[in-house]
Amino acid sequence: MSNGLARITNWYCRLTEEGGQTFSEVVIESTSPFPYRIERPGPGTLVLVAEALANAHPDTIIVDDGLVDEVSLTIPRTGEVEAQVKLEADVVWEHRTQNSLPFKTILRFERSILTKIFSHKTIVIDPGHGGADFGYRGPVSLREKQVTLKMATVLNEILRSFGAETFLTRQQDVSLSWQERLNLARQKKAEVFISLHTHWAPDAKINGAAVFYNPIMPQSEGLAREILARITRKGKVTGRGIAPSWSLTELGRIAGLIIEPATISNWVEEGLFRSPDFHRKIAYGIAVGLEKYFAQQEGASYAS
Ligand SMILES: [Zn+2]
Repeated sequence: MSNGLARITNWYCRLTEEGGQTFSEVVIESTSPFPYRIERPGPGTLVLVAEALANAHPDTIIVDDGLVDEVSLTIPRTGEVEAQVKLEADVVWEHRTQNSLPFKTILRFERSILTKIFSHKTIVIDPGHGGADFGYRGPVSLREKQVTLKMATVLNEILRSFGAETFLTRQQDVSLSWQERLNLARQKKAEVFISLHTHWAPDAKINGAAVFYNPIMPQSEGLAREILARITRKGKVTGRGIAPSWSLTELGRIAGLIIEPATISNWVEEGLFRSPDFHRKIAYGIAVGLEKYFAQQEGASYAS
C-alpha cells in the first residue's frame, strides 16, 4: 500500500517577503502531493498531519527568527508524518502547496506582530568594557570587550529588524564609564537597558550563563528569568541563575539587565564566544525574551 505514498524528502524554516510583508514559513518538500490535515492543539502550536512516508529523519530544529520557536518532525505510524510547529505568538497563518520539483507544502505565518510589539520601544544596548578596559580574558586570550561588542551588534540588528528603536553605548573600541552608559538609557528614556558581559571564574571548570536585574524596577526580575531561559536553551549553556544587581538601581524605573551569556574562563565557552552562530543564538534569545516581556506588559494575545 505504501508504494503509492508521497515521500517527504526535506523540511526547513525560512523567511519570505511578499507585498512588503515578511513571513516565517515552514516548508515540507516531497516527491509528490500528499493529503494532509492541520490541527491546533493549543495556542501557538500547529500540527500538520501528512499521509506520507518520511525519507527525512525525525528531528527537532530550534529556529532563530523571533516568531517560530521550534519545528519537530515525527512519524507516529507508517504512512503518517507529523510536523509540529511551536510559535512564540499566536499569529495569523495559512497553508499552501507549490507544484514544483520537489513539491512543497508550506505553512506560512505573519510576522507583523513583531513590529506591533517592538515599535515605539526604546532599548539601549551596552557592550561592556572597551578601550583600555579589556574586561576579562579567556584562556586563549579572547577579550571580553570584543565579544560584548560583537553580540551587541547582532542584537542591535535583530531588534531594529523587529521595529525597535535602539541605541548602542559604544560602536567602537572606546572606554566609557558606567555612569555614561546609564546616562544614555536615562537620556533616551529607554524601556530597557541591556549591558552585555561575560562571566569569569578562577576555576576553569565553571561555566554557564547568568542574568542580573534592576531590583528597583519589579518587572526586571521576570524579564531576567525569561531571557535566561531562552539564552540557555538556544545557546545550549547551563543557567547559573538570576540575581539583583545594585549597580543597576540608578536606572530607577528602567528595566535594566546585565547579561553574561557564558563564562569566558571556561575553554569550551571561550570557544563559543568566538562563534558568530553563538552570538546570533544569544541575541535571538534576548530578543525573544524582550518580545514576551513587552507583550505581557501590553496584555496582548500571546502564547504562553
Ligand atoms: Zn564585564
